[in-house]
Order: sequence, then C-alpha cells, then structure tokens
Amino acid sequence: MRIVEARELTVPLQAPIANSVVNFGEHTVSLVALISDVERGGRPVVGTAFNSIGRFGQSGILRERVFPRLHSAAAAALLDDETGELDPSRVAAEVMSNEKPGGHGDRSGAVAAVELAAWDLKARLADEPVWLSLRRAVGQHVDKAKDVPTYAAGGYYHDRHSATDDLSALEAELTSYRRLGYTACKIKIGGAPVDHDRRRIDTAIAVFDGPERVAVDANGRFDASGCEALCRALSGLHLRWLEEPCDPLDFKLLNDVRQSYDGALATGENLFSHQDVANLLRYSGLDAATDVLQMDPGLSYGVTELLKMLNVMESNSFPRQSLHPHGGQLLNLHVVAGLGLGGTEAYPGVFQPVSGFGTGVQLRDGKVSLPQSPGFGLELVSELAPYLNELLS
Ligand code: MG
Repeated sequence: MRIVEARELTVPLQAPIANSVVNFGEHTVSLVALISDVERGGRPVVGTAFNSIGRFGQSGILRERVFPRLHSAAAAALLDDETGELDPSRVAAEVMSNEKPGGHGDRSGAVAAVELAAWDLKARLADEPVWLSLRRAVGQHVDKAKDVPTYAAGGYYHDRHSATDDLSALEAELTSYRRLGYTACKIKIGGAPVDHDRRRIDTAIAVFDGPERVAVDANGRFDASGCEALCRALSGLHLRWLEEPCDPLDFKLLNDVRQSYDGALATGENLFSHQDVANLLRYSGLDAATDVLQMDPGLSYGVTELLKMLNVMESNSFPRQSLHPHGGQLLNLHVVAGLGLGGTEAYPGVFQPVSGFGTGVQLRDGKVSLPQSPGFGLELVSELAPYLNELLS
C-alpha cells in the first residue's frame, strides 16, 4: 500500500456568530485527501479528514512542508513493521521531520488533518468504521462500544437589537436543542456584561431544567480581576462546568480560579501537545474528581498525540472519561467512541459544512449512536459532500 498523492482544499465555515473573543465568520478548515494505490470498484481507496473547527485552514504549511515530506517518504516508512498496515503514527512522524519541538501554533492543525486522514484510509482499507479501528489499535474490546454522550454547544452571540432580543432568541435556540433530543447544553459567556450573561445563564437553566445540565464557556476572556468577578457571579450555581475562564496557557491564574470557584472547570482545547497537558495538570490545580479536559485531536497533531495526552492524564489520576474533546464533528464522534472518552460536543445548526454527525446516526436522550460506514464517513455529512467531490475531481 502506497500513498500516491495528497491534496488539500480550504473550506470556509458558514458561521456568522461570535464568542467573547472571536467572530467565526472568517474561519476556514483544511480538507485533506490521501489517495492510495489500492483500487476498489475501479476507484482508488482515499482517506479524508480536516483540522477540526475553531481555527483556520493550513494550505501553506500543508503544501510547502507536510505534503512534500509525505511524498518523499519511503512507502515502508509509513507502515507497521509487523502487520504491514498503514500506521498513522508513522505518517505523523514523517511529516514532522525537520520540525523543532514546542511552538505548536498552526502546524499542529495541518499535521492533524493528515494524521486523521491516515486513520480514515486505514479504516477504509479494513472496510470498517474508524472507531472500530481505534478500539483495535488501543486494545479495547470491540463489543464494548456504545452510544456516545453529547451536548449541544450553542448560545453564541449574534448581532441583536436589544438585550431582550438576545434572551428570547437564546431561549428559542435552546428549546430547539431540547426538542432534537439533547439533554445538556453549553452557552457562551464573557461577551456581555456579567449581569446580562447571568440572565442568559438563567434562561439556559430554565430551558434545560437544572444548572447541572448547563455549561458556560468564556473562551479565555478574563484577566485576574475579571476572573474574580466571574467566580463571584457563578459560585453557588452548580453549573455543569465553567470553561476557559482565563487564557488557556495561564496555569497560575487558572489555579487561582480553581481555589476560589466552587464548581467544575473545563479547559484544554487550546493545548496542542502532551507536554502542554503535563504542565496544565502540574500547575493548574485541576481536580481529577470533578474537572473536564477538552483537547481536540483535530487541532493537536491527531490521535497519535491524543494517546500521549491520555497517558499524561491517566498518570495524573484523570480518567479517560474526563476527556470531552472540543469540536462537535464526525471525526471526534469516532475518536470518543473508539477510545472510550467521556463524550463529544455537538454544534447543531452552526459551523456547516463540517459540523454534524451525518446521516446514519441517531440522537436519543443525549446520546449519539455509532456510525457504521467505513472510515469516518464524511461523505454522509451532506453539506460537506460537494467539497469532497471538488477535492477528489
Ligand atoms: Mg470552548
């Protein structure tokens, strides 16, 4: 088996929404295809993936550094020595040659798209879904796979004429999620004055029947004094979790929040290496019994690096069920199911064309059924299909 060609396509997100820090309207992702020399039905077997959601496409890094290394690698260098099968960890290692450690930035997303496409290709060659390939790879019992807990991540800020408009629109949005079958939600905070955000949180609690079903996400918005005010406003509410109250790399400030806030915290979506996760757990004071980690393989070099992060977590007494990766899309549904993680995010109605779990999965009582198509099955995400056709034409 050889990879004969790698391609990429920059795909714009349809997301006229904002959190407290960024507007997603300019965001893009890189859709990547790895074309193999294996043919089925007269067509080559192809692996496809993308670099999650929330940052940008990486056309330059892919074309100038990642793809040339992949094309020049010896075919055997990408295969497992014993099985002769494609080994995504070897693909990741080859495309990282001549890259210094640290300073992860945008290359971690570029490498992730290729590494995840290698998992897709590996699973399609085995004619099985990626979650099953992952369970095999990590030695878990394949008959233990079960529906994946999810929650509706929404409650973004829109341009509204008044605060009243914002609250009524939020109530309508969250009510629609409940009707779809979601039993928990997450809303954005930090983009409005604290008293207005508190009214948004109360709206979410009313719609979802309890604070334990409502998480809030500040997207790293607050400095030390802002964190103090936030902790005062939210303490005693017993929300599902408070996500990224401060800069994701300010572990000292997060430790201060941990000392003063009485609910669960969540963070990790902006950490792209297992060394960063080790430092987070070393210095932030996070509690393995209550707190949630959210590293996203699509932003952080792929599953290969995520497995190293899981090792760091488990050696610090954090169970793998405390990992709920950022990124509500089909790739992460497979990763969560395959690795037995705590649950996956979902973005109902936003971040097309790359959000959504595709046809063939059902949402029921807050859980998503497992996809059964070979690979990730991205072709079953209807909004993405035209971009896949363009990439492969
Ligand atoms: Mg977040």
